[in-house]
Amino acid sequence: MLRKTDFLVVGSGIAGLTYALKVAKACPDKQVLVITKTIADETNTKYAQGGIAGVTDFENDSFEKTY
Ligand SMILES: Cc1cc2nc3c(=O)[nH]c(=O)nc-3n(C[C@H](O)[C@H](O)[C@H](O)COP(=O)(O)OP(=O)(O)OC[C@H]3O[C@@H](n4cnc5c(N)ncnc54)[C@H](O)[C@@H]3O)c2cc1C
Repeated sequence: MLRKTDFLVVGSGIAGLTYALKVAKACPDKQVLVITKTIADETNTKYAQGGIAGVTDFENDSFEKTY
């Protein structure tokens, strides 16, 4: 079956889903389709149970800091 979409997101891990949510919010009139090579929740993201390291506070944190 041929599917058409405005945005095709490859991967349902944190990267793909973050992009999908942001683009869906920014472009509510557009279609967003997420595809994956297996089932939707079979990702490295699912197994990262120590929490995902990220920089969200750029005043007190940076990507250069390792600890
Ligand atoms: C056991 C384990 C523990 C971890 N613990 C931590 C932790 O504590 N803290 C931390 O910060 N990070 C941790 N990580 C790393 C973290 O999980 C990854 O850095 C992060 O989840 C990557 O997110 P992602 O969205 O880039 O990729 P993923 O979550 O791996 O998602 C990739 C997506 O792309 C899809 N995909 C891949 N290839 C194809 C293809 N050819 N065609 C279609 N779809 C495809 C997959 O099916 C999946 O949906 C851990 C990883 C593992 C494996």
